[in-house]
Amino acid sequence: MFLGHYSVAFAGRTEGNKIPLWVLFVAVQLLDLLWAPFVFLGHEKVRIVLGITATRPLDLYYMPYTHSLTGALMWSALAAFVYKLVRGAKTSSSAALIVALAVFSHWILDLIVHRPDLPIYDDTLKVGFGLLNYKGAEFAMEIALLVIGIALYLKRNVIKSAWRKIGIVVFGIVLILVQTQTTFWGRPLSSNRIVATTTLFAAIAFVLEKQRRTRF
Ligand SMILES: [Zn+2]
Repeated sequence: MFLGHYSVAFAGRTEGNKIPLWVLFVAVQLLDLLWAPFVFLGHEKVRIVLGITATRPLDLYYMPYTHSLTGALMWSALAAFVYKLVRGAKTSSSAALIVALAVFSHWILDLIVHRPDLPIYDDTLKVGFGLLNYKGAEFAMEIALLVIGIALYLKRNVIKSAWRKIGIVVFGIVLILVQTQTTFWGRPLSSNRIVATTTLFAAIAFVLEKQRRTRF
């Protein structure tokens, strides 16, 4: 799972909760954003094993801090706490809960696609349903999730500017193209590339919403 995670960010943003889209973009990829420095510092481990899944040759054999169930729950709670702390009275507890669910959704979607490399706690009881072994099905799921997420976003937010609507749709098409390239022709996603791509997409989400604020 790579860009399918963003479907939750699109679906989570409503006119009611007013959570900035870029915040949800960071939230849904928070576990991977944390994974990168954990790998870099040697606290979590990954190695290339060709053929370990049909889609990507990564053996994620040790990641108790970022991708265990208990770790994911902890980061989700922390994200909600920080969001509420930073936004203060400007936001509700239910919005903070949505941020927590966005963070936790990463683990649930990873659970569907990963091979059994996600520990329940520490480095034990590893789970994963292994959809990554079915390239076509995994790709179809990522794209379907993205389309549904973007459709929900367009439906549940008041977007008066036609340009902004077009911007969101074009952005969605770019995400689908990037996913296509990653699934069928890409090199394995290195931690650096994940951080760079995630930061870039969060910045684009920020700009797309910024445009709205200046127009209205
Ligand atoms: Zn992940």
